Amino acid sequence: MQYLGYEAFEKSINNVGTSVVFMAKDNDETVIIISGPDSLGFKAEDLGVEDDNRKFKAKLTHDNACVLRKLFPFTAPVRVLGKPKSFGLGDRLGIATPGHIDLFKDKDAYPVFAQQSIRELTLTNRTYEDVLNCATFAVYREGYKKGFGADGDHLKTAKDVEYALSLGFTMITLDCSEHIKNDITSANAPPVPEKYKGKYLNKTFNIEGISIEFSEDELKQCAAIYEGAIIHATEIYKQFFASGKYDADFEISIDETVSVTTPLQHFFVARELLDAGVSFATVAPRFCGEFQKGIDYIGDIAQFEKEIKVHAAIARHLGYKLSIHSGSDKFSVFPIIGRETKGKWHVKTAGTNWLEAMRVVAITDPALYREVHSYALGAFDEARKYYHVTTDMAKLPDLKTVKDEDLPKLFENNEVRQVIHITYGLILSLKNSSGSFVYKDRLYKLWSEHEGEYRKALLKHIGKHLDLLN
Ligand code: ZN
Repeated sequence: MQYLGYEAFEKSINNVGTSVVFMAKDNDETVIIISGPDSLGFKAEDLGVEDDNRKFKAKLTHDNACVLRKLFPFTAPVRVLGKPKSFGLGDRLGIATPGHIDLFKDKDAYPVFAQQSIRELTLTNRTYEDVLNCATFAVYREGYKKGFGADGDHLKTAKDVEYALSLGFTMITLDCSEHIKNDITSANAPPVPEKYKGKYLNKTFNIEGISIEFSEDELKQCAAIYEGAIIHATEIYKQFFASGKYDADFEISIDETVSVTTPLQHFFVARELLDAGVSFATVAPRFCGEFQKGIDYIGDIAQFEKEIKVHAAIARHLGYKLSIHSGSDKFSVFPIIGRETKGKWHVKTAGTNWLEAMRVVAITDPALYREVHSYALGAFDEARKYYHVTTDMAKLPDLKTVKDEDLPKLFENNEVRQVIHITYGLILSLKNSSGSFVYKDRLYKLWSEHEGEYRKALLKHIGKHLDLLN
């Protein structure tokens, strides 16, 4: 709409005292306009007096995002894991939040718009400032006031935890994988430490009618595999959470590891953490079967159902929620997750939001899509170092035989999904010999011109996730 001489975003118009603040399109850039006696703390260009109003123009910088969060608290992240339903949306491109807002504004699930791991930051050459600011600006522009979370995802070190918390992230996912000893077996585990014997042996733990009992063999493995992870999580908790200095939730992630977390192991880890005084909102176990990136669940669904029933009962009994990682496109198990958790879950997605952006490219610019696709095929072996996938290259269609109008259908092919999914970092960072980006700038230009299509795609695709979970 036209407002005070600008092409304004209607839902962004807010009063602050006698001043008005809104977002507007200024040539190709989105800016913040302040109309009033001063710039309200924004670092802004003084435009002087126009039509009886003094105006200031502020760019979408980190400093100005901080001012926005102070002036309009709905643009700052809040804790959402305490809500029954919460959903993580790793927006690697920084452009997905408007589409996510379209979906979540009417749902009873609470979104985590800002969610990235250090691996994703590195691969996309972004910072946590940028990840949070993109969410803040989108929330302001769209007038979304329901609240959203910010997740420092899969953090492994105190330094990274401090980085995210100091910026106001409201959730830390502590990745304990490097402290989990996967090579422990019944044969090589040391004997059960004395302190655990009286606590766990010859006892039956009754959890919602399910009996949990430890054999000596199982207990010695639990202790040997997870003791390091428990110590690590306890230290991080004491350093950052115990004092209450930061208003943030703590998630314990033991999922990025090769061995499945048995319900017994889950119980042991959670029980030990609670006894050490650690409070946490969520635990992410490594479930049986495969939760590979961007495709449906692979594995025995009946076995999954049997195990998540126990995992969910343990979580309820001990007072936290289950967190399901790599939740992109796990359509065949969402109804089970929704049912067995009794509607109390945290589900994380990331790659699927990127795949929807690439689907938009396939629809709107087939030539560009073909270029990126060919590059991704060549880059796949390199990208595999970062992600676990079991892609069968022999099942990839030959692009030369695919008509332009059929390109979007490639996103129904698991092999294509995985190739495009895990090569995002290489695609976005590729430069030519003169130092400019080969794809990144062209892709962002396309996404900016086709924002409406991307919004619609996300509304539908992430909406399918929520519908099945409910
Ligand atoms: Zn994970």
